[in-house]
Amino acid sequence: MACTHWLFGDQLGPAFLSRLAGVPRDAPVVIIESRAVFRRRRFHRAKAHLVLSAMRHRAAELGDRVTYVRANTYREGLRRAVGDRPVTVHHPTSRAALALVRSLDGVTVLPARGFIVRHEDFAAWARGQRGLRMETFYRHVRRDHDLLMEEGRPVGGTWNLDHENREPPPREARTLGAAAPFQPREDSIDEDVRRDLDRWERAGDVAFVGRDGPRLFPADRREALSALRRFLRHRLAGFGAYEDAMLGGDTTLSHSLLSSSLNLGLLDPVECVEGAVAVWRAGEAPLNSVEGFVRQIAGWREYVWQLYWYFGEDYRASNAFGHTGSLPDWWNELDAEAVSAQCLATVMRQVRDTGWTHHIPRLMVLGSYALQRGWDPAAVTDWFHRCFVDGYDWVMLPNVVGMSQYADGGRMTTKPYTSGGAYIDRMSDFCRPCPYRPDRRVGDDACPFTAGYWSFLHRHRGSLEHNARMTRAVHGLDRLQDLRALLDQEEQRERSADPP
Ligand code: FAD
Ligand code: SF4
Repeated sequence: MACTHWLFGDQLGPAFLSRLAGVPRDAPVVIIESRAVFRRRRFHRAKAHLVLSAMRHRAAELGDRVTYVRANTYREGLRRAVGDRPVTVHHPTSRAALALVRSLDGVTVLPARGFIVRHEDFAAWARGQRGLRMETFYRHVRRDHDLLMEEGRPVGGTWNLDHENREPPPREARTLGAAAPFQPREDSIDEDVRRDLDRWERAGDVAFVGRDGPRLFPADRREALSALRRFLRHRLAGFGAYEDAMLGGDTTLSHSLLSSSLNLGLLDPVECVEGAVAVWRAGEAPLNSVEGFVRQIAGWREYVWQLYWYFGEDYRASNAFGHTGSLPDWWNELDAEAVSAQCLATVMRQVRDTGWTHHIPRLMVLGSYALQRGWDPAAVTDWFHRCFVDGYDWVMLPNVVGMSQYADGGRMTTKPYTSGGAYIDRMSDFCRPCPYRPDRRVGDDACPFTAGYWSFLHRHRGSLEHNARMTRAVHGLDRLQDLRALLDQEEQRERSADPP
């Protein structure tokens, strides 16, 4: 009889049970639901629901082939399911899980699945680089996997269409008018999950943050394929131009909402990018939208996955700015109603209600606010990990520590991503109904992002003025007549810990 194969909760698609990947067709399967995972962290309720629902849906699909164990820990669950018989498992997605599987007798670790580039290929590419830059890596992936290429050159004659993909939302528009994203229908498995989560919470065993509501993201392969198909057919064409825009009345715009399906292993990145390229070849979506989407998956997602392993364990503790501030209660509780700043209130409400928001609110509203306020990057990383349905250790560390908090001092990006209110005003419709004014930096109506931006530059002037991409901004401090008043105002804001 074939060796038992162990599936983690983010290895739920067919790519993780394939003969090509070293798992025989008749191999028995074990899936372990570990309660300790939920006890350790206060997850968003929607995330806990999605992960459990997806694991239980996979178990239902596999029927008699699977042993589904509910245990306190993975170690205990595995012992109960297989005793001391040998087990295979695909390379897990976190360092902690990799250390665990390597420490267990009789467990053979098979190569990672669910990504386009193998670790050894990334290491070989990185050896030839002077600095690791996403753009260079992305072009390498495009060439190596023949993605959007013609006779060795990028289709359309250019690699990068970002300049076409940074449009502000159309003037006066309340929505982009894109077709609605796929909406799953809950079933009896979801009912059981909801009942269990209620019971555990009532018993004081676990605690959640965020609101419960109908499940919004796919929990099995069939749903994930429907979501992908719907995006490719009805939403991809509009993806590019307004990728960075934000609208209070249309929070999903043309984004794919596929991150949780990809990160649960329900979708494979290759089928997503090949599907998008096929839509372009059929003339049903413009190149800027298709290239923009391919860049997100074959570029950013792959890059982030590789950096997680490449940078090593110490990366987690990076804190280049020496930020130690703690997250205030309103932030931890996702108390959107307490917030007057419309950008933060809108985004926080979306996170509270769905556990998701798109890239720019994560980077330029939530992450930027945390950076400007000097909060501990490890605490910010943990918050993102717990509160987002697509949050996992591998994707959080580079995105939060590196990209959003610049805590690695520039190993991942060339400058900190943060801005004053002018950027948010240009890219959204948040500022009009806001009690603050994006062009005011001092006074009762001073925008916390505008004032926070200058205060951040002032605090780190010593290190930032040596960064060629920040020098001009830092020198702008010298033109501010009201800098002292601004710094006093922001110091008071930070001391009060009240929401803006
Ligand atoms: P789309 O805009 O439709 O993009 C398509 C896909 O590209 C996504 O589904 C995702 O799989 C991939 N992608 C794009 N950018 C990234 C990136 N930087 N890292 C990894 N994948 C990327 N993404 C997560 O999957 N999980 C996270 O926990 C996560 N946390 C983030 C935290 C911060 C502070 C920032 C700045 C970004 C984070 N991202 C994370 C990346 C990105 O914001 C989300 O992948 C995206 O918003 C998910 O929505 P979508 O599926 O509609 O993406
Ligand atoms: Fe946000 Fe400032 Fe605009 Fe208000 S004015 S929505 S706080 S950027």
